[in-house]
Amino acid sequence: MMTKSEELFRRGCKVIPGGVNSPVRAFGSVGGTPRMIASADGAYMTDEDGNVYLDFVGSWGPMILGHNHPEVREAVIRACEKGLSYGAATRREVEMAELICENIPNVDMVRMVNSGTEAVMSAIRAARGYTGRDKIVKFTGCYHGHSDALLVQAGSGVMTAGIPDSAGVPKGCTQDTLSAVYNDETSVQKLFDAFPNEIAAVIVEPVGANMGVVPPKEGFLQSLREMCTRYGAALIFDEVITGFRLSFAGAQGYFGVDADLVTYGKIIGGGMPVGAYGGRREIMECVSPLGPVYQAGTLSGNPVAMAAGIAQLTILKDHPEIYTELNQKGKWFFGEIKKILEETGRTAVANYCGSLGSIFFTDCPVVDYETAKTSDTARYADYFRYMMDAGIYLAPAQFEAMFLSAAHTSGELERVLELIGNYFQK
Ligand SMILES: *Cc1c(COP(=O)(O)O)cnc(C)c1O
Repeated sequence: MMTKSEELFRRGCKVIPGGVNSPVRAFGSVGGTPRMIASADGAYMTDEDGNVYLDFVGSWGPMILGHNHPEVREAVIRACEKGLSYGAATRREVEMAELICENIPNVDMVRMVNSGTEAVMSAIRAARGYTGRDKIVKFTGCYHGHSDALLVQAGSGVMTAGIPDSAGVPKGCTQDTLSAVYNDETSVQKLFDAFPNEIAAVIVEPVGANMGVVPPKEGFLQSLREMCTRYGAALIFDEVITGFRLSFAGAQGYFGVDADLVTYGKIIGGGMPVGAYGGRREIMECVSPLGPVYQAGTLSGNPVAMAAGIAQLTILKDHPEIYTELNQKGKWFFGEIKKILEETGRTAVANYCGSLGSIFFTDCPVVDYETAKTSDTARYADYFRYMMDAGIYLAPAQFEAMFLSAAHTSGELERVLELIGNYFQK
């Protein structure tokens, strides 16, 4: 007999490409049928068949307080009672912007959008408008959403003109996207040597989290800061994952490195579809209607989404101990995983930073996309299925992070460590 998930997925496949609204959800790289999630609360999700999972995806980051947090939920319900959208300026948008600008270094002004993709696309346009330059530098293996200019093929080294990585992206859209190697500042220097006056921005995930978790090497982010200052390019931290996660001030706060522009998504919406970009006043003043860089959004700053985001960010700001505990939990949990891998002598390595971590099924240290790619994805799929059968919901792909939340108790994490131990022993 088919499970309800299987039945729904079959129906979905007839009317939605691949049955999903975002590709990774299709379980393509791990096999099997995606579980149709019916509800979620705290650290757990329940599927349509009533199976309960301890969740380590957390909607890919937003659920840092756990699912269905009562204060966030209440804020949304109260907002709904006042109407769902006005297409006009509101008090909540001002309060949200103040919450960000008063607490995040280098963000003097911020614009709300509806997704991380939109945030990054708009930040790059602002950087190009401000500098009057066209080229941007991105790092192979970093993901910045699905806008045309950022869908470039992964090279094995420095590339001075991007080749589209998706059908439907014209060559012209990626020709100004240069690719550098993560954790290798000399690869960026080469691009600045080749185009000293043409690079508008360097965009980076301050902690690589879309090739599995790849933390920056000591001094890497600082050297990007220095190069951008020297060549007059904007440094963009894509903090769609790290923002409000590593610390309230994100990676800027965690590593003590200043960016010129920052992009947010995921956590900033408290589970609602929200993104934001912000930064230094001179750059943000280029954005329409103040300046010549056009950017707009019918539902941007939506009152219900703002209510969810403000509620979640306010809890995080008022309880700095959440970050201390979350980062301690990450250090202990991923540290124990490292011990298991060493003791069992399996060819796998663990990387982590704060509450983000990954196990790579390879024997070499993972420091960039090339080394991440040495992972055996079939072994990850086997591990994924083992954990899924034991009620643990991990990312259905090797090159993703495991997200810890404030809702994961040490008891639950101990149970997971025991399972991981058993898996690697077998
Ligand atoms: C998820 C993500 C994005 C894209 O955000 P969407 O809301 O999915 O459009 C951009 N950058 C990073 C670093 C991300 O992790």
